[in-house]
Amino acid sequence: MSSSLGTMESNPTLFFTPEAEAIKKEICEAGKKLWLRQYVDGNGGNISYRIGPNEVICTPTLISKYDITPDDLCMVDLDGNQIAGTQKRTSEIFLHLEIFKAAPEVKAAVHCHPPHATAHAIVHRAPEYLTIPEFEVFVGKVPVLPYATPGTAAFAKTVAPYAKKHNAALLANHGVICWGDTVTHAEWYAEVLETYCWTVLIARQLGGPMHYFTPEQEVGLMDIRRRYSIPDHRLDAAGNQDCDCAGGALDSTVRESDKIELTDAQFEKLVKAVSDSVLKAIRNK
Ligand SMILES: [Zn+2]
Repeated sequence: MSSSLGTMESNPTLFFTPEAEAIKKEICEAGKKLWLRQYVDGNGGNISYRIGPNEVICTPTLISKYDITPDDLCMVDLDGNQIAGTQKRTSEIFLHLEIFKAAPEVKAAVHCHPPHATAHAIVHRAPEYLTIPEFEVFVGKVPVLPYATPGTAAFAKTVAPYAKKHNAALLANHGVICWGDTVTHAEWYAEVLETYCWTVLIARQLGGPMHYFTPEQEVGLMDIRRRYSIPDHRLDAAGNQDCDCAGGALDSTVRESDKIELTDAQFEKLVKAVSDSVLKAIRNK
């Protein structure tokens, strides 16, 4: 069997190689982690690995990531045509395929719905970065992709512009997608992103103010990131500053988002409270 990607043929026999068997096990183990960490409900979430130039092993549709076994997995070409496996491939594979097409160095992708990161995706707000070393080193600034119906070509294409310089994205009103050199690493990034979103939320609930790394501190973290060979939106291949995100690296320990915005009613209430206490202090003199 073969399928076309331009002139590119696919090789279904790759699905049965020792490498494929190891990858299938790794995908199933990652699936169990996602379910145990409550990042996927029902049959939600999907995992993929690009094993050849036009061959991608992926999870099937309608099976819980907890129950999945190597025999359930599928293989598709870069157009999404199924070329091996008895179960039907996930309909969200197109999102993964856009990453693999845009960034050939990427081998694996994990999509899931972890609650705190997904909550950020509902309000279309990426977590603030530059507050915790592990997040800077392993994930960094995360784009929020515009909402499109899951499984459609329009949805899949939203990720392509970020595939090369990021390794995670929030999918508006949906969940997250993370990618990397191995399935295990892509799953790690989902863990780091979810825990980070949760932690930032708690810090905010403590009332702040939030404290951010200085540019000098950020440089130190970027050095570590480079040593791990994790691509970053802030650096080009030579390690020079090259940011594709609005705002870029921050040069202040207080951000615009930390400034309190008051409604007119709140402002009036505040003015009244201040003048009341001033009058009280004068009367008590
Ligand atoms: Zn989903």
